[in-house]
Amino acid sequence: MVQSLPEQTQLLAVSKYTTDEKVACLIKAGQQDFAEAKPQSLRDRAQHYPQVRWHMIGPLQKNKAKYVGKFAATWHSLCDVETALAVAKHVQDRVLPVWIQVNISGESQKQGVSEADLTLFYTQICPIKELHVVGLMGMAAKDGDKRQTFAKLRQCRDNLLAQFPESACQGLSMGMSNDWRIAIEEGATMIRLGSNIFND
Ligand SMILES: *Cc1c(COP(=O)(O)O)cnc(C)c1O
Repeated sequence: MVQSLPEQTQLLAVSKYTTDEKVACLIKAGQQDFAEAKPQSLRDRAQHYPQVRWHMIGPLQKNKAKYVGKFAATWHSLCDVETALAVAKHVQDRVLPVWIQVNISGESQKQGVSEADLTLFYTQICPIKELHVVGLMGMAAKDGDKRQTFAKLRQCRDNLLAQFPESACQGLSMGMSNDWRIAIEEGATMIRLGSNIFND
């Protein structure tokens, strides 16, 4: 269990494996931010628990884009332009904050924009007026050097801010149950914890 976090780090409760009972319990305890990895689950829980914010964190196919456009408070796994446009079509009367997922571990099976493509990708997303890039999201490899991987995401963010000083891309969504301490030391503004807060 997380005892306390630095003030600049937010806790995202990843509820993808857990029960409604545990979600309800955490809401009662004051938790405001929850995440789902499947668009239908996000839709269902966002409708069931509209008093808290629901974050989309998993891979997204274009035909499920409407669930994110309509129900997500924010979207952490943006990594292709077509899906971004599909989501934007369903965003109404608001701007959706989004995080660009960067493949910092370099594993081919992980999704995310490559470091090399990040600047170009960012400039492709910026004109989409329904979306607002607020940060970068990344995952470390299970047995890679986590500190180095998280530092790399921070470097990507800093490079982007150096190129686009007006950008709102300040956030770093990184760190999961087994590596969140290192992520915080490397500057995470949001950690995403599932198994170690829900115990499932
Ligand atoms: C499942 C998931 C998490 C949470 O993982 P735990 O190891 O259970 O904390 C965080 N981020 C993403 C993108 C996930 O899919």
